[in-house]
Amino acid sequence: MHVADCLFCRIAGGEIPAQVIHSDPEVVAFRDIHPQAPVHILIIPRRHIASISVLSPEDAGLVGRLFLVARDLAREEGIMEEGYRMVVNAGPGAGQSVFHVHLHLLGGRNMGWPPG
Ligand code: 5GP
Ligand code: ZN
Repeated sequence: MHVADCLFCRIAGGEIPAQVIHSDPEVVAFRDIHPQAPVHILIIPRRHIASISVLSPEDAGLVGRLFLVARDLAREEGIMEEGYRMVVNAGPGAGQSVFHVHLHLLGGRNMGWPPG
């Protein structure tokens, strides 16, 4: 499903430019426009899913692929050894601002815990 007014559907469809660093039939990854770390990449399914909160059991493989792509990108970006973080914000209270599932891959600096 392509949602016409969804920013990330439009990026996945090539209608809005982004620094795309991975693209396959199911998953697209691109650099965050406001990076919060030296490496800040968003990994998304091509198919529109508004939030992790509305995942179906059938989506399990797709979500697994988001993590595998992110892991591969961590290696390619040179942050695998020092460590990196993968984050999913779900709902406005957690800071979700784009309602198309995305996995943040952050690295290249030390991370605090707990996150804010
Ligand atoms: P959220 O806050 O929903 O977890 O994350 C949304 C992310 O999307 C934010 O980190 C924000 O900087 C990023 N973002 C918002 N608009 C754009 C855009 O047009 N292009 C890119 N590449 N990233 C965006
Ligand atoms: Zn979408």
